[in-house]
Amino acid sequence: MRESNRIVGLLLHKLDDIIKPGISTYTINKFADELIRNEGGEPAFKGYTIPGLPPFPAAICSSPNSCIVHGIPSKKQLLQEGDIIGIDVGVYKNGFYGDAAKTFQVGEISDKAVALMAITKEALRRGIAQARDGARVGDISHAIGSYVTSQGYFIADDLTGHGIGTSLHEDPVVPNIGRKGKGPRLKKGMTIAIEPMVNIGTNRVIENGWEFYVADGTLSAHFEHTILITENEAELLTEY
Ligand code: MG
Repeated sequence: MRESNRIVGLLLHKLDDIIKPGISTYTINKFADELIRNEGGEPAFKGYTIPGLPPFPAAICSSPNSCIVHGIPSKKQLLQEGDIIGIDVGVYKNGFYGDAAKTFQVGEISDKAVALMAITKEALRRGIAQARDGARVGDISHAIGSYVTSQGYFIADDLTGHGIGTSLHEDPVVPNIGRKGKGPRLKKGMTIAIEPMVNIGTNRVIENGWEFYVADGTLSAHFEHTILITENEAELLTEY
C-alpha cells in the first residue's frame, strides 16, 4: 500500500509544475500515465468499469471548475488562467491500490476559488484527524460535513470516500456527511480513502456519463488522501 500510494503522491506533487494555462487535460493525462508506468505501476482508473458506462478511458480524472469528479481528459480541453482543476489518480502495483486527488489552480484564480480550495483542504484535514483505531466512520463524516456546512459551502450529493486495498473501492463507504459515533468501527491496519467534494452553490449534482457537475454551475473542489489507520494519528500514504 505504501508503494502504490507513494507513486500517487509523487505524481500529484509533480503536477504542480505541469499544470498551467494552455496545457490540455490530454497532455496532463499523458504525463501521468508515463510517470506511473516508469515507477512500475499501472494506472488503476484506466479501463475501470461500472454498470451502464464504457470503461474509463484515462489514467487520471481531470475535473475543471464546476466538474466535481470523474472528468475525462481531452485534447480539446485547454486550461485557462483562472480555472481550478481537480486531478484524481489511482495506481495499482504489487497487488495493491493507491488513490488520491488534489485541486490545482491555473495561474491566478479568484478569491472565491481560493477560499473554496482552502475550505475543502481543511475539511479533509479535519476528517483525517478523526481517523484512528476505535473511532467510527461517522466521526470522520461528521467532522467533514459539519465544518463545510458551517462555512456556508455544500457537500456534493452521492459521492463518498471508501476503503481501499487489494481493490480500488472496498468497504467501508466513507461519506462526507454523517453522525458522530455511528457507522463501522475503524481498526488499526485498515486503509481508507477520505475525499471531500465541496461545492459553492448547491449540494445537487448532475451526471453526464462518467462526469459529475454541480447542478447550478458553481465551482467545486476535491482533495483526497489514502491513509493508514493506526492507534494514533493516521499515516498519510499519499502525502509527497
Ligand atoms: Mg477515491
